[in-house]
Amino acid sequence: MRVFKFGGASVKDPEAVRNVTNILQNYKSDSIVIVISAMGKTTNGLERVVNAHANQTGKAVEYLDEIKAVHYQMIDELFEEPEPVKASINDIFVEADWVLEEEVHPDYDFMYDQLVSVGELVSSKIVSSYLNQVNLPAQWLDARDIIVTDNIYRQAGVQWEETVENAKNKAQPMLEKGGFVITQGFIGTTSENFTTTLGREGSDYTAAIFSYCLDAEDMTIWKDVPGVLTADPRKFDYVTKLDKLSYREAIEMTYYGAKVIHPKTIKPLQNKNISLYVKSFIDPKGTGTLISSAVEDNYPPMVAIEENQALLNISTKDFSFVAEHHMSYLFKKIAETRLQVQMMQNTAISFAICVTNVDGKVEKFTKSIAKDFNVDIDYGLELITVRHYQKDILDNLREGKIILLEERIRKTVQMVVKDVPVMKRKKKTN
Ligand code: ADP
Ligand code: ASP
Ligand code: MG
Repeated sequence: MRVFKFGGASVKDPEAVRNVTNILQNYKSDSIVIVISAMGKTTNGLERVVNAHANQTGKAVEYLDEIKAVHYQMIDELFEEPEPVKASINDIFVEADWVLEEEVHPDYDFMYDQLVSVGELVSSKIVSSYLNQVNLPAQWLDARDIIVTDNIYRQAGVQWEETVENAKNKAQPMLEKGGFVITQGFIGTTSENFTTTLGREGSDYTAAIFSYCLDAEDMTIWKDVPGVLTADPRKFDYVTKLDKLSYREAIEMTYYGAKVIHPKTIKPLQNKNISLYVKSFIDPKGTGTLISSAVEDNYPPMVAIEENQALLNISTKDFSFVAEHHMSYLFKKIAETRLQVQMMQNTAISFAICVTNVDGKVEKFTKSIAKDFNVDIDYGLELITVRHYQKDILDNLREGKIILLEERIRKTVQMVVKDVPVMKRKKKTN
């Protein structure tokens, strides 16, 4: 069997869904688990619903209705008989309606997962029904019947033993009937049957979980790019496609922020030596990128950029050195606030960390250590990582930037930067 994953962009509108169907026509005699993400930017829309509900702005229902309307329109355009499909997605949306009717749940992350998971549930229903309409063999599988996680909502960890067992007992028999098994990316369930999510962009990881559990021959993620490129084409010109990558190189690249593959995806595949193809849904005949155990020696320079970074300079209030006992305390607080540390460096009197600034975690962390530590913070920074660097590339990237922190480890250079402030004339005030 094989595993395919189609992300949000590949199913963003009716034409995109038809395109996915055309791709699948070429594989109709294969047994494939097909992992589907929420359509287009639905997850962002659902996050808006969650925030509106959490803050009781009175807008949550209206925002959810907008999302429903987009899905209904999609169904109207795709189906000869739209009503049964609408009824089946309404059964899913109703769960979200109930959350909004209830009082705000005290655990934000729990509530988030119950609402946001709806995106993949409805998109997978629509795709599965559409495949049936065009006579492609598709069975719909609730990923929550397979993927069991802990209860760290929004960042759930997979419980592998139960998950493998479920896959063998429930997904395998469906595959043995032949054809496609359509399921959702991004979501799982706790052992108490509460829905969890695996972290934003987690659908690639879901595909890897299925591949691992079912010993897939290979896995393919279908993207809007020809394969893995030397940098994000939205941010750089003159990028080139990498035809082959080792697991190791792919792990490094995605860990440092190459957004094309979720960083957790590679490890389970490497563990079972399952090849990963990254291919284009726009040009499905293209060769894409093959990620496997074959080791390549010569890689061109590759660049990854993480935006929205903050640099925290932490020093003790009593002027003592930031010593081991401080470190262990700081790391405990970092773990408690689930701060994502990208880079760190310590000097005699300060400890600097570069972290991703999301969900008010920086403020939470700073508050939690305020009694004993002073923290200076620079916001709005970028973290640039270059693998297999060459001098001219580094010079080019440094242009117009102030470097706040830089580190070189073997083949990797990382720098935390901000734009050089440009002098501007003041407005006339008379
Ligand atoms: P999905 O539809 O599966 O969610 P994503 O949008 O998350 O896909 O990932 C594809 C995008 O990743 C591309 O459109 C591209 O802009 C971005 N990207 C970032 N870094 C790279 C890279 N090194 N190679 C290819 N694409 C990259
Ligand atoms: N829909 C989720 C997100 O946008 C998961 C995914 O697409 O991978 O983050
Ligand atoms: Mg995505």
